[in-house]
Amino acid sequence: MSLPNCPKCNASYTYEDGNMLVCPMCFYEWTEEGLKIAEEAAKIRDPFGNEIVDGAEAIIAMDLKLGSDTIKQGTKVKGITILDYPQDGHDIQGRVDGFGLLLLKSSVIKVR
Ligand SMILES: [Zn+2]
Repeated sequence: MSLPNCPKCNASYTYEDGNMLVCPMCFYEWTEEGLKIAEEAAKIRDPFGNEIVDGAEAIIAMDLKLGSDTIKQGTKVKGITILDYPQDGHDIQGRVDGFGLLLLKSSVIKVR
């Protein structure tokens, strides 16, 4: 049985200590269970519970004001990227039909 690499420093010297996995390189300790819960919590979802992944396509789920323009509900969004560092509550960006690349919130789209 091979143990996974360290999720923190990616070293391959993981050993088991009881039900914990330990990395001797950076002293990080974790459990497979804890890792799954953290991964699940880190997932970005639309308001309908669909997971948003890089490259996803979606539609705008509600009319959005953008200056004097309005992005209509149902407008397509392509090439969605999840931002590593949300800016002003915007956690994704994507190409919005007729508007180009925009920062968006995962709460205003619906994944197709
Ligand atoms: Zn490590």
